[in-house]
Amino acid sequence: MPSAAPFDARLIAVRKLSPGVREMIFERVDGEPFVFDAGQWVNLLLPLPEGEVRRAYSIASAPAGTPRFELAVTRVEGGPGSEFLHAMEVGACVRAIGPHGLFTRSPQDPAPALFVATGTGITPLRSMLHAALRAGSGARMWILFGARFEEDILYRQELMELSRGSDRIRFEVTLSQGGASWSGRRGYVQQHVPELLAELTAKQAVDDPGGVGPHLYICGLERMVNAVRELSRGTLGVERKRVHVERYD
Ligand SMILES: Cc1cc2nc3c(=O)[nH]c(=O)nc-3n(C[C@H](O)[C@H](O)[C@H](O)COP(=O)(O)OP(=O)(O)OC[C@H]3O[C@@H](n4cnc5c(N)ncnc54)[C@H](O)[C@@H]3O)c2cc1C
Repeated sequence: MPSAAPFDARLIAVRKLSPGVREMIFERVDGEPFVFDAGQWVNLLLPLPEGEVRRAYSIASAPAGTPRFELAVTRVEGGPGSEFLHAMEVGACVRAIGPHGLFTRSPQDPAPALFVATGTGITPLRSMLHAALRAGSGARMWILFGARFEEDILYRQELMELSRGSDRIRFEVTLSQGGASWSGRRGYVQQHVPELLAELTAKQAVDDPGGVGPHLYICGLERMVNAVRELSRGTLGVERKRVHVERYD
């Protein structure tokens, strides 16, 4: 597993992913490749007027052996770190330390995966998905993404394209406050996990009878992560070692 080391990173591009989320593409100033495992995060040392603060951000891009990496930052109202990052201009630099974290998935892992995320919790799962696809993985990887409104669906186009016509990649979205025109799933992610997990388990039984059951990778704010983890390990009876979590708060 790559070990954490400090480095300077320059912001080279930004993009609005949703009304409250900013994609930020950084590049190591020293030109060295940024070596990390899909699912890991990086600490940013932010020079605020009241002093330096450290904030963790999951890496949204797949390891590529280049100096570049992508983050996606939710703007938290009154949050000093995220407000600083939303105001940061292209060309500016920030000190970073990383990578960190054990919420990882081997790109070669053949076990099916159900990725469950809300908001920017999708970022480490996006990294895992792209890393696996790059490695030529044949594993089934299904994403269940939860948001409030349609405009909050992150990486929608990209994930729809990856899943279109694929029997391995599936992209499911549930909206807790979808408008009248929304014809997809509604409610919280927890409400949809039992059905998707059962379906994925049934596919696995056909693909690989006697094989390892699906792994769950859950990322986002604590309340959702805990609810899905308890549901999976409790009512749904998923073994502890197949449930992986990352909490943002
Ligand atoms: C391992 C790890 C990975 C993380 N990865 C990301 C990431 O990829 N993208 C990201 O935006 N944040 C991520 N975070 C959260 C991030 O580190 C900061 O907590 C967040 O940016 C808020 O910092 P702040 O200084 O603006 O506000 P603070 O004053 O530090 O926090 C205010 C409150 O904001 C809430 N909050 C924290 N993160 C979020 C969020 N993403 N969405 C909504 N509310 C939030 C918390 O409830 C917190 O109590 C991660 C946290 C951890 C521990």
